[in-house]
Amino acid sequence: MLSLFALHTSNRFVHVTEVERGLACDCHCAVCGEVVLARQGDVREHHFAHNSNTEPCASSYESDLHRFAKRVIVEAGGLVVPVTAAISTALGFGARLEPSLLLACTDIEEEVTVGDLRPDLLAATTAGVNVAIEIAYSSFCDAAKRQAYERLQLPAIEIDLQSFTPTAFDVSQVKRAILEVTEGKTWLWPEPMEIESAALGESVSAHPDVTPPRPFLPEEIVTIQGRWISVKELPSGDIAIKAVRYDPEIVSVVRIVARAHFGRYRGTHHNWVIPRFRAEAARTQLRMIAASLS
Ligand SMILES: [Zn+2]
Repeated sequence: MLSLFALHTSNRFVHVTEVERGLACDCHCAVCGEVVLARQGDVREHHFAHNSNTEPCASSYESDLHRFAKRVIVEAGGLVVPVTAAISTALGFGARLEPSLLLACTDIEEEVTVGDLRPDLLAATTAGVNVAIEIAYSSFCDAAKRQAYERLQLPAIEIDLQSFTPTAFDVSQVKRAILEVTEGKTWLWPEPMEIESAALGESVSAHPDVTPPRPFLPEEIVTIQGRWISVKELPSGDIAIKAVRYDPEIVSVVRIVARAHFGRYRGTHHNWVIPRFRAEAARTQLRMIAASLS
């Protein structure tokens, strides 16, 4: 099979459409280390070839796709995930109602052994919870693996990339599927139903005077060139905005928008609070910036 991936000099595992043509791609074969050139004639024929013209090294598309997906998640520092009450509780967010949330991570490791499992990635969220991330192309996690995650009480999510075959591989669509949408993402543990109904029954009927869950703070994620700005509505109606991960450009966009709408900086939360009478205008401006730069 033709080789669609190679290792860039910067040590990034890249798809052939992400680099310049020919030797200018600045890449090596990920198997043998030889210099490769990017052949980019007819789109369907894009591939890497050894500079010496020898046959391509044997590689598995499935493991290459895994490696690419891991790179994308590590570089982004997180991903959007679907949310149920069970998941939200397990992730330390309390009872939330949003259908999805951005799982921002402080640390993401590859090839870590947890118990007798070896997830593709093990992430630590900003809330300090470990989450296992599994990439799936042709083989998916079975019941035994789900039970193993349950025994470890380790939240685990599986991302289904089976539609991205070698000829259907489009870098921006693959990135979107991994980072920005909830479709194709399934929590292996905790499963939605069991805890959900129990939790509902408990707080609604059995213990009416139980401490209410953390207030519901709707969060919007504005994506600017793959980088995230969190926009949270506070109970007062004011909004808090911040760059999800430190990035000078994004921090500067946030600052400019915040100042234009009477925002004040809260050092304790590393965010800007914009008064409610300018909240919608600030939100709109952020979305427009995101649209104009995409
Ligand atoms: Zn090679």
